[in-house]
Amino acid sequence: MDEGGAVLVVELASVVDDGFGGGALSPELAAPFAELRRRGWLVVAEGGADIAEGLAEFDAVIPKGAAAEVEFELRRAPRGRTVRVAEAAYLSGSPASVAAARRAGFGGVFGLARRRGAARLRAAGADAVVADPRGVDAAWRRGGSASVGRRQRSVTTVPSALAASGALAERLAGKQKAVFLDYDGTLTPIVADPEAAALSPAMRHAVAELADQVFVAIVTGRDRRDIEERVGLPQLYYAGNHGFDIAGPHGNLEHPGGVAAIPALDAAERELRAALAAIPGAVVERKRYSLSLHYRLVPDSELGAFFARAREVTRAGLRQGEGKKVIELCPDVDWDKGRAMAWLLEEMDLDSADVVPVFVGDDLTDENAFAALGGDGVAVLAGDPGDRFTYADVRVMGEAEVMELLGVLAGEMRSDEGAERVR
Ligand SMILES: [Mg+2]
Repeated sequence: MDEGGAVLVVELASVVDDGFGGGALSPELAAPFAELRRRGWLVVAEGGADIAEGLAEFDAVIPKGAAAEVEFELRRAPRGRTVRVAEAAYLSGSPASVAAARRAGFGGVFGLARRRGAARLRAAGADAVVADPRGVDAAWRRGGSASVGRRQRSVTTVPSALAASGALAERLAGKQKAVFLDYDGTLTPIVADPEAAALSPAMRHAVAELADQVFVAIVTGRDRRDIEERVGLPQLYYAGNHGFDIAGPHGNLEHPGGVAAIPALDAAERELRAALAAIPGAVVERKRYSLSLHYRLVPDSELGAFFARAREVTRAGLRQGEGKKVIELCPDVDWDKGRAMAWLLEEMDLDSADVVPVFVGDDLTDENAFAALGGDGVAVLAGDPGDRFTYADVRVMGEAEVMELLGVLAGEMRSDEGAERVR
């Protein structure tokens, strides 16, 4: 930074009560910007030229999109200062603008969610989500321009969640938590036969104890009914089929894109059962939101016919994926565990700036959720995947450490409730 304090670019439309066209900055929001300026920030309005009132709160006004340049001049700023994007912070209430600022390389990107919307802002790449613009000051000082969102790094460089538990507890102190847990390889050891992946009584107890304290959801690729039976705790939320199908104590939530694809899945299932009936060993497995074609037991001499017939089936609205000796057909919707988590946070009214989401998972599909946590969630990698890249903040190794982590997450909440309960 050169002279003066840090620079904050604010997408004005997203903080003005009634949007574009003659709107004014509400006094409720003008005051925090005045306070930031008193603390030494240079506050720049982006795209506010058509908003008549409230501009006095800003040091400069630049056109919408101008802040995405590598550097921009603050024409109305004191001393005509030039600002480099990498040294500036950006604040917006719009996920699209947060994503654009992330791509533009801002030193810090912050989401503004006065009540709701934190989950989407985090998923768009916000370093932190604040309920009040003044929160940018503390978040910037904490991370500064070194905090540049969630980036992948080598698994071998990720610290242990338990060794760093003091730091973890500090990060979570006074915050409401929402905990998301993968099942296979996270709550259970990896086994060759997925049917045999059972939850130990001790792990079930640890998950139940945690659910007494905080919101807990299991997020898995398994069918929802299957996972509900395996875990057997009715007080939890269950997101099956990578989150297409969610159920909890207060009822069911189904992704509209998944529901819309059910007729296509039904039709493909009928056609495939008929087309593959004559092929020995071919197994068509229907889950509510996907269709698996297993060919492990198909003799080599029949594989050509199997693939040819599988290809002929109409699959409009479906997307094909490959697994181990299995073809999977899923709804062709842009959807993954990260989107499922963000959606669940919204549905559960947990997408406010003061709820810290925590996701624990072991596999590549969990990385989507890690990335969607934003800079102020906590991504925990379970198990030992060898040396690959990850978005995880911290890691735990094996069942015993996962249980200990669940205890930290639950116990931390207990100490929040009051010192009188702590001897
Ligand atoms: Mg897993």
